[in-house]
Amino acid sequence: MWNTIAQHISQTTGQPFEIRDRRSVGGGSINQAYAITDGEQTFFLKLNQATQLAMFEREALGLKEIAASHTLRVPRPVCWGLAESSAYVVMEWLDLGAGNAQAWQKMGQQLAAMHQVESSQGFGWSQDNTIGSTPQLNPWTSDWLTFYREHRLRYQLQLASRRGHFPRSATLLAALPDLLAGHEPKPVLVHGDLWSGNAAVTTTGEPVVLDPAVYYGDREVDVAMTELFGGFPASFYQGYNDAYALDPGYARRKVLYNLYHILNHFNLFGGGYGAQANRMIDQILSS
Ligand code: ADP
Repeated sequence: MWNTIAQHISQTTGQPFEIRDRRSVGGGSINQAYAITDGEQTFFLKLNQATQLAMFEREALGLKEIAASHTLRVPRPVCWGLAESSAYVVMEWLDLGAGNAQAWQKMGQQLAAMHQVESSQGFGWSQDNTIGSTPQLNPWTSDWLTFYREHRLRYQLQLASRRGHFPRSATLLAALPDLLAGHEPKPVLVHGDLWSGNAAVTTTGEPVVLDPAVYYGDREVDVAMTELFGGFPASFYQGYNDAYALDPGYARRKVLYNLYHILNHFNLFGGGYGAQANRMIDQILSS
């Protein structure tokens, strides 16, 4: 398997490459990750079961979409494919550090710039992709209410109802036109999975985003997710708001947008996320 991957890297980069050392990299929740090196060049490799090749392909295409926006830095995808019984994706290795306030402010500014890259085809993307390992459907849709209700909330609620009880889910879906009334966001490029584990700063101070689940949607979905699971440093929000001020209604929609990710966590990991989703539904319906 390792030879097949090394050969694919050589073919793609046009430079000889063989794996002289490999080291497991922690932090991911879905895949096995490695640093692979020949002593000179280093790459980041993710492995999963062969059935997950499409997931890696869409991740690589998402990284390319963000790279093409010339806003936020992402690791450049190198190649992806199948080796024996594994699917793999190889990308540029980036030396990541903690980053200071200035770098996080720049991250905010660059995300604001990415959120001004508009689609002429509406909400969605040219590809379906995954959020974690859950399918995420992105059919081009002209209005945000329909897109968010059908392809984000209803999809996750249907999956979640197979093993959990969400008594107010139909009420929530029916309330969506009211909850989003008067809100007409532009379809802009969003990262789609922007929690703190997917944002970092290189050791040279450059903000980077990882592991996207891109589509064209309401920019507020990204900002809302930065506030989940730990949150981003305050300077990030300063940078973002100075560049592209948030709409006053954002605070009201935040819980509605983060519900998608909590439902997805319930679908991926089960446990207390179901109760958390129900509390969020109650909160949304009482607001
Ligand atoms: P998963 O898809 O399994 O969640 P991630 O893409 O989030 O995996 O990567 C797991 C961890 O590996 C990240 O949190 C980060 O610390 C590190 N990492 C991700 N991409 C790179 C890269 N291109 N170069 C170096 N380290 C990386």
